[in-house]
Amino acid sequence: MIFQNPKGAPELACNECGCRWFDRMTNCCYECGAQVSERDLEEFAEALRLFSERRIAGTSSPGE
Ligand SMILES: [Zn+2]
Repeated sequence: MIFQNPKGAPELACNECGCRWFDRMTNCCYECGAQVSERDLEEFAEALRLFSERRIAGTSSPGE
């Protein structure tokens, strides 16, 4: 699953237990060992990209 931290940045969390710690070598959750799907990783990469684009755009718009 993907959720947003208080700063609005996307964070990847385990679909099974909701924890955010992953073994980056194997893309498995540290807590329960569930594997992160390629699809989730792609969605997370996309969310990160959108977030950085919004941040860049946000610097030029007041009131954010
Ligand atoms: Zn887990």
